Amino acid sequence: MKKYTFDITIIGAGPAGSMAAKRAAEKGASVLLIEKDKYAGIPVRCAEGVYRDEITRLVDIDDSWICSKIIFSELVSPDGNRVRAAEDASGFILDRKKFDQALAILSVESGADLRTETYASGMKKNVHGEWEVSACTRGEDIKILTKVVIGADGVESRVGRWAGIDTSLKLREIESCCQFTLADLNIDDQTVQFYMSKEFAPGGYAWVFPKSGGLANVGLGILGTYVKDVNPEKSLKNFVKRYFPEGRVISQIAGGVPVLPGLKDMVADGVLLAGDAARQVDPLSGGGITNSMAAGIMAAEHAVRSIEQKDTSKKNLTAYQKEWDRKFGKKMRLSSKLKKVVDDLDEEVFNNLVGKMSLLPQQKRTPFAFFKTLLLNQPKLFLDVAKFIL
Ligand SMILES: Cc1cc2nc3c(=O)[nH]c(=O)nc-3n(C[C@H](O)[C@H](O)[C@H](O)COP(=O)(O)OP(=O)(O)OC[C@H]3O[C@@H](n4cnc5c(N)ncnc54)[C@H](O)[C@@H]3O)c2cc1C
Repeated sequence: MKKYTFDITIIGAGPAGSMAAKRAAEKGASVLLIEKDKYAGIPVRCAEGVYRDEITRLVDIDDSWICSKIIFSELVSPDGNRVRAAEDASGFILDRKKFDQALAILSVESGADLRTETYASGMKKNVHGEWEVSACTRGEDIKILTKVVIGADGVESRVGRWAGIDTSLKLREIESCCQFTLADLNIDDQTVQFYMSKEFAPGGYAWVFPKSGGLANVGLGILGTYVKDVNPEKSLKNFVKRYFPEGRVISQIAGGVPVLPGLKDMVADGVLLAGDAARQVDPLSGGGITNSMAAGIMAAEHAVRSIEQKDTSKKNLTAYQKEWDRKFGKKMRLSSKLKKVVDDLDEEVFNNLVGKMSLLPQQKRTPFAFFKTLLLNQPKLFLDVAKFIL
């Protein structure tokens, strides 16, 4: 059996893994990035929406990765009324096939070795305390000897479990999502739509993210605790029948989104988890692309530092978790709290919110105005949120 040796082995070439590989290679480490699928980013399991500010801080955006530039967002209440927020030009709908492949190529250009069609099946420590990763690459079993493993293997991550980290999720900590890409829609390409509805998406929401030319990702997420009562696929079919009967389904995906404020433990001896593997998705929005990229970069920096210090122990790598917590912890906990509060709200609250916001001139319908209107109507929510903000 062939054996390879790398300073850092990164499992999974999604946004977390590719950014980790890029940064670790830039810092001079020998890096292997392995991906089980033939191409990074395929199949896509994502609605592909990102905030412009967040992504442009992490990577130079190429226009070819963007399907549409978002200028407006619309909130649709359970009773079907809708309100369009002030113009804010805050988002992009990406083409993740192109985007994920471009990030993987950037990592290669920085010096990382990328092996696609390579499935990691396990890992164990050798007598020297290094990790030995077992993988199968295009039908051939191989071993990779490595000082540090970065688990960037997504929501179904197994790297954490192999390293003894508890990555299990309770039903209330995961949303079950279903999404169709619909064609022939008569929608505005510059507007994302969010539907609050306990009927279609209890514990979550439904979204319409336009990809231009009448194409859109239309999906919904249902909190695990409700899935026994509401089947995501059936619910999405009903949603589409109600709101987009003209739409033609051209593809369908399903997937889980972790909605907790991150894992308690994101590191073990010689192992760091990043992205969905570490449950670093924003719990309120369900957005994980940019958080995963940021986490990948951070994990790589700590991996390289620990190798330079010749100390890849869990104790030394805990600095990664501390940095993550310092930079993202507060926002993640606030999002998680808000998610629970929003889930408890009566549908009438959203009907009122949309009604009240519609009375404001459009340019005054800022996120802050939405939030203020919601808080003024829900004094209990105000108290819950205040302790995070003040
Ligand atoms: C329906 C849906 C809609 C979403 N919409 C959005 C959105 O609009 N905006 C947003 O920001 N986020 C969204 N997300 C979340 C977003 O997709 C994830 O947070 C993001 O992809 C996480 O990146 P990652 O690199 O951690 O993991 P992934 O992108 O999942 O990448 C993990 C990679 O690891 C590979 N892999 C796994 N196991 C192995 C193995 N054993 N060996 C080798 N390779 C392996 C996989 O093939 C995959 O390529 C959505 C998720 C879902 C399910």
